[in-house]
Amino acid sequence: MAQTTPNHTQNVSGWAAHDSSGKMTPYVFKRRENGVNDVTIKVLYCGMCHTDLHHVRNDWGITMYPCVPGHEITGIITKVGKDVTRFKEGDKVGVGCLAASCLECEFCKNSEENYCDQIQFTYNGIFWDGSITYGGYSKMLVADQRYVVRVPEGLPMDAAAPLLCAGITVYSPMKDSNLLESSENPKKIGIIGLGGLGHVAVKFGKAFGHHVTIISTSPSKETEARQRLGADDFIVSTDPKQMKEKRRSLDYILDTVSAYHSLGPYLELLKVQGTLHIVGAPDKPMGLPSFPLIFGKRTVKGSMTGGMIETQEMMDMCGKHNITCDIEMVTPDKINEALQRLANNDVRYRFVIDIAGEEVGSNLS
Ligand SMILES: [Zn+2]
Ligand SMILES: [Zn+2]
Repeated sequence: MAQTTPNHTQNVSGWAAHDSSGKMTPYVFKRRENGVNDVTIKVLYCGMCHTDLHHVRNDWGITMYPCVPGHEITGIITKVGKDVTRFKEGDKVGVGCLAASCLECEFCKNSEENYCDQIQFTYNGIFWDGSITYGGYSKMLVADQRYVVRVPEGLPMDAAAPLLCAGITVYSPMKDSNLLESSENPKKIGIIGLGGLGHVAVKFGKAFGHHVTIISTSPSKETEARQRLGADDFIVSTDPKQMKEKRRSLDYILDTVSAYHSLGPYLELLKVQGTLHIVGAPDKPMGLPSFPLIFGKRTVKGSMTGGMIETQEMMDMCGKHNITCDIEMVTPDKINEALQRLANNDVRYRFVIDIAGEEVGSNLS
């Protein structure tokens, strides 16, 4: 589709999956010319999100091949359209999950573009000109300025990349529950899962002055959680004694786990009127027993990434508190290996591809 779209004349080198084997190979494709509202970005780094894995393997049955994934992108602006006011050449910027939205609905007007019914994503979406969108596993990106954010000075571009999805995904629910900068009213927060999302959530929780508890199935993560990430407490969720001791102890729980689990035991950890907020996305329905909801007047809710104003706010907050992701850098020739390790949860805590570091062969440029 994209190959025949008018104005898609720019050759870009990237890496794509071509079928549900998910195997990534170098791939040259076309991007649109830089429009009046667009910026062109030389991609420096791209984080590897679990969503990328689901897409390249067509786990959700919605993948349009060839698929160039990647929605945790940082880079440098190399060109700006004539109506671009917010950016100039040389600016350090980031692009997350969103490529387009209707701009007219109540959500777009309120900069909650992520909830627009016509939202199109950075990859595996269909842009308004009919082209399929390709993500950040590529050397260059053309993006509408609305969906681009500034990376604060002082934040490293590599470790900042995963903030564009993992960071905003945990920041938005914390903001929604008034957990930002509330050192005068510290809360007891629980984070389920210490992975790509969870480890950033701990950093936010501590930066905002709260008491943070990690809830994990892996006792082996306790030392790391407490000593390096600064968590205040650690609960092994498979230990019934610990779970019982911590009953009704937390104000708020952020659930970042994407493997199936029942919510019942976790709800019991909440105080009366506590909230459990889901951002992990198991592909099967989760167990949700009614008793812990009813007897504790508790709430279960969810959210997906965040809007663009909020994403900029999150980046600025990370600049202020010096929050980045803990990353493991990979070169593009190791993408397949990294995807396999991601599938095995064998990463601390996010792979980031050094897109600009290794030039692909001249036949691909
Ligand atoms: Zn993501
Ligand atoms: Zn809209």
